[in-house]
This record gives sequence, structure tokens and C-alpha cells, in this order.
Amino acid sequence: MSRKAQECGAINLSQGFPDFPPDALLLELAAEAMRKGANQYAPMPGHIGLRERLSEKHQKLQGCSLNPQSEITITAGATQALYTAITSIVKPGDEVLYFEPAYDCYRPAIEWAGATPVAVVQKAPEFLIDWDEVGQRITDRTRMILLNTPGNPSGYLWTESDWQQLEDRVAGRPIVVLSDEVYEHIVFDGHIHQSILSRPALSAQRLAVFSFGKNYHVTGWKVGYIAGSASLMKQFRSQHQFQVFSVHHPAQWALHQYLEDAAHYKGLSAFYQKKYRLFSDSVRGSKFQLLPARGSYFVLADCSDMGELNDQQLALWLTEAHGLAAIPLSPFYSEPPAEQKLLRFCFAKKEEVLLQAAEIMQAV
Ligand code: PMP
Repeated sequence: MSRKAQECGAINLSQGFPDFPPDALLLELAAEAMRKGANQYAPMPGHIGLRERLSEKHQKLQGCSLNPQSEITITAGATQALYTAITSIVKPGDEVLYFEPAYDCYRPAIEWAGATPVAVVQKAPEFLIDWDEVGQRITDRTRMILLNTPGNPSGYLWTESDWQQLEDRVAGRPIVVLSDEVYEHIVFDGHIHQSILSRPALSAQRLAVFSFGKNYHVTGWKVGYIAGSASLMKQFRSQHQFQVFSVHHPAQWALHQYLEDAAHYKGLSAFYQKKYRLFSDSVRGSKFQLLPARGSYFVLADCSDMGELNDQQLALWLTEAHGLAAIPLSPFYSEPPAEQKLLRFCFAKKEEVLLQAAEIMQAV
């Protein structure tokens, strides 16, 4: 859709990336990192100072004590962390349970590992998890459960009850829980992100994935990390060492300095709340019925009463005829629900761009 947006000169609320610059201080630190000599390979698990900062952060936020030497690895973005976690732990014949609508890199990674993807659908508009179904779909072959909170594209936030239900179902089983938490700080309206790192009952079977790209408006840097059990991390690093070996050193050096001040991530929720409010208020009354979002920088619009076109045709039409690009939801499913017509809009954009988009939506 980004390519299509470019071809049509359309406003691009499709792909998830900010259209505003990162903090000038972070850019200055990146330049300084290169000038001061962080230009050769970083250690395989990542810059130790950065790993120590991250350990302190999760101690503060979740009361979780992570050994920076053995329980944190810096990765080439969250995508690589997810891919390597899946392919290093899951073997051919295993099953991996995950939730749809799902971020698009999950299913291919499971298939590349030779495993069977088992999708449990979270139904719109609430996207609640059907725990009876999860219970039924867990078998002796289930090796991993993969989840995403706050969810892309659903905006769903896992609740205390979801975590308890999960804990009950994986207790005593050899199931690894892989939690994609790249939108950890982007939650709205007083909702709180509950990380898997705050669940001691899962400490031996968990891995959590994060992205600096999302937190610091630098998606193009492709730097993230994975945190969790030392024995799983050992397995993870056995592949990471030969797939990636070492992640961009100057970025790690800069992030290490930048993370000294927690204010940057603490302000993120309010920063995005403002954009979310502006966009949803400006779209109100249009044909696009926004579903309530609790987290991530995406919001879904129900377009059921916008004629005969399906969601993919609607997204193309909106781009070509009206100059506004969004993402249809059906590609986020292995079998898209019939009749469902949802489009995903990314509001990690400048205010004037959100207002221009809303104007188009009001006119449609
Ligand atoms: N997980 C989710 C849910 C995402 O939305 C994204 C980015 N769109 C990623 C992982 C990938 O993050 P990164 O750019 O750090 O690889």
C-alpha cells in the first residue's frame, strides 16, 4: 500500500512508521557514536551497557530481574528477534498457536521452521480471546504460543484475566510463550500494558520481544531486543550468532546513552494519545466507524456500510480515487472472516497530515 500511495501521491496512513523525526539528541548521539569509534563489531549479544540499561528498565517497570549477560540479546529489529526465536525453538512437526488478526511475519516464520501454525481468531469489534477455544487447540504437539500486546492491527491489550488463563493452560507443559510487545509504551485512556515480564509464573518458559524503532521513532534503524529465560536465550543465540552475529554498533551505543533518561519512553503514551484523539475526533461522523483502540499506533475503521467493495478493493479505491492509503485487514488472517470490512489507519503521523486524512474521510 505504501508503493501504491506513492504512485498515487496519496496520504499514506497505511504502513506503520512515523513521518516525524526522532529526538535531535538521539541523532546527535548516533553521530557521536561514529565519531568516537563505535564502528566495529559489537559483541554478539549486544552492547553490554545497553543490555544493563534494559535490565534496569524492566526491573523498574515489571519488577523482573533479567541478567544482562545471559537473558537479553540485542537484535536487528523485532522481526529478526521473532524469526530467530521461532526457528531456534520450534522443530518440524511442532504446532505454534497464535492469534489472528496477526502481524504478517508470524505465520511465514512458523512455516519456515517446518511447524504447523494454529490460528485462534479474535473476533472484531472487541477482539476478546476465546480461552475455551485456546484450551481446545492446545495439543501435545504445541511447542509455542505467540502473542502480541498491544496488538497490531487489533489494538487489543491483554488483561490480567488473559494472562491468568494463559498461565493455567501452559502450566506443566513444555510450551514456550513468545510475547511481541513492540508497542509496550503506546497505550491510551489510562489503560496499562501488562508485560509477560511481570508474570513470574512464566519465567522459565517466556521470551519477550521489543523494538527501539517503535519507541524512539527510528523504525529504519532496525534495532530491537529479546529478553527472557537464560536457557531459551542460549538456544536463541545459537542461531542469532550465525544469522546476524552483531547488530549495528553505533545505534546501540547511542541508545545506551539515550536510555539514561527514562523521560523519553515515559512521555510516549501521552504523545500518541494526543494523535489518537485528534484523529478519532476529526473522523467522527464520517462513514468510517472507528473501533475503540487501547494501544499500538493503529486504529481500525469499520466500513461495512460503504457499498459492495471488499476491504482490499476499498483500500485501493480510497487510495486511487481519494488520495488516502490505509491497509485492508483481510491479509492479517489465514482465512479472513466473511463480510468483515475493516481498514487499518496508522496515526503515527504529523497532526496536519492526520487532519488532511480526516478531511478526505469526511468527504467520502
Ligand atoms: N511486531 C509487530 C506487532 C509490529 O507491528 C512490528 C512492526 N510493524 C514488528 C513486530 C517489527 O518491528 P521491527 O521494525 O523492530 O522489526
